[in-house]
Amino acid sequence: MHYGKYIRSAAWRNNPARLAELVASGGRCRTCNGAAPEVQLQVHHRTYARLGAEIVGDLTTLCMECHRVITDLLRRRSYGLRSPKFSDVVSTISPSGPLRDPTRTIPGFDLLGAMK
Ligand SMILES: [Zn+2]
Repeated sequence: MHYGKYIRSAAWRNNPARLAELVASGGRCRTCNGAAPEVQLQVHHRTYARLGAEIVGDLTTLCMECHRVITDLLRRRSYGLRSPKFSDVVSTISPSGPLRDPTRTIPGFDLLGAMK
C-alpha cells in the first residue's frame, strides 16, 4: 500500500478506527489537549502493522504541531544511530579532531581541529 495515496484517500478519511479515535479523544490533541479550531487535528499512526486495516489502538489524535514534533522524535530515534549508505554532504568538521570551541585555538591543532 502506498502510504501517501492512502493518507489522501476517502478510505483513510472514513476509516472506522480513525473516526473512533477522534471521538474517543474528545476532539482534542492527546498531547497538548488543544482542540479545533485553535489547532488542526490529525490522527497519528502509532504502528503501521495494519496500514489500511487499522484498529483503534494503532492510532492517536494529535494536533498538527504535536504530530510534527513526535514524528521528528520517532524518526530521530529510529534513524539517528544508523550509518548512512551514502552521503552527498561533505563534513566541515574534522572527524579525527577533538570537539573544540571555534573561538579558541588548541595548542597542537590547527583552526579546523586537525593535528599540526
Ligand atoms: Zn498538540
